[in-house]
Amino acid sequence: MADIVFRNVTKRYGDTLAVDDASFTVNDNEFFCFFGPPLSGKSTILRLVLGLETPDAGEILIGGRPVNTVSPAERNVAMVFQNLALFPHMSALDNVRFPLVERKVADVDIKRRVADVAAKLHIGHILHKPPAQLSGGERQRVAIARALVRDPNAYLMDDPISALDARLREETRVELKRIQRDLGKTLIYVTHDQEEAMSIADRIAILDNGRIRQIGAPAEIYDRPVSTYVARLLGSPVMNILKSVRGESGVEAAEGALSIADRAAPADAVEIGLRPEDIKVSPWSDNEKAGRGRPARVFEVEPLGGYTVVTLAAGQARLKALLRGQPDIRPDAMVAISCEPARVHYFGQGGGALAR
Ligand code: ADP
Ligand code: MG
Repeated sequence: MADIVFRNVTKRYGDTLAVDDASFTVNDNEFFCFFGPPLSGKSTILRLVLGLETPDAGEILIGGRPVNTVSPAERNVAMVFQNLALFPHMSALDNVRFPLVERKVADVDIKRRVADVAAKLHIGHILHKPPAQLSGGERQRVAIARALVRDPNAYLMDDPISALDARLREETRVELKRIQRDLGKTLIYVTHDQEEAMSIADRIAILDNGRIRQIGAPAEIYDRPVSTYVARLLGSPVMNILKSVRGESGVEAAEGALSIADRAAPADAVEIGLRPEDIKVSPWSDNEKAGRGRPARVFEVEPLGGYTVVTLAAGQARLKALLRGQPDIRPDAMVAISCEPARVHYFGQGGGALAR
């Protein structure tokens, strides 16, 4: 068992609160991701788990055992560094063997452990090659194999693939997800890339200035963000957030540019959030007669192949809508925009989400 628990953990550097009263549980075998902007405390949390830092307050447990005073070696948690950390002058095999050679493990045991790990990670056929002759995904697997030969309790990865180009990142994150599932080991993963966090993790913790703002499965956080802060962090294009006032029959947003006929709208909502994919866009001429939707002017159109991002000017507000395929919409055209009441997010003063 290697669940990892933080109980009210705080870490300061001088006046900086790097981690502020953090409590969470990473379950055994879970792929758990910390996501947040730069300097939000992600790396500090990993260093606290590894034992390279000691908390100023609170308690850390690994597999049920309090580890605040336990040395990094005894915690047996492996940090997987970026592929850059492979020794370039050594073969993949020598890279993987290295931690055992360093610990003076007997040759027969090294052979057995390396064979075992190579089979698990499907790298037996590339072990003779130097890192330069491996693909990005293969290098990642070799780096993981080098950590795995030690048989750690859990893995930590600090933005491990951010240096790779976009295509390679997409390939590698799928491999990582698959490898973690096959290995059945706890993995704490740090990224500053929202798409990576969403696609790779069982659960995500959202960090803001050392504080955990929300923990949940990716879909849960995406569908029910607890605040405008969290809502803006996940999703691309970003969620539209508009000032709103409660009217007779629902909500008027962006000074009347958009109307939501929702009698269940909370009375204390001051902003609404609309995901770009939830905004319906139709030609104004079709809609005028039906009387559905409010007018908006198309500001710009970005065709992205499978879908199209349309930026709309509605009153004083700018909105982004995400449409499927390549609809026939031109800049400066008038369109009607609307949104299903059930898809609207409501936020109160201070940005907290409100239940409808
Ligand atoms: P992230 O990994 O999310 O970018 P970090 O955990 O590295 O964030 O940093 C969190 C905060 O702690 C930042 O304000 C950073 O400047 C500060 N910090 C991190 N490490 C140190 C250190 N060794 N000395 C002083 N301040 C630090
Ligand atoms: Mg960092």
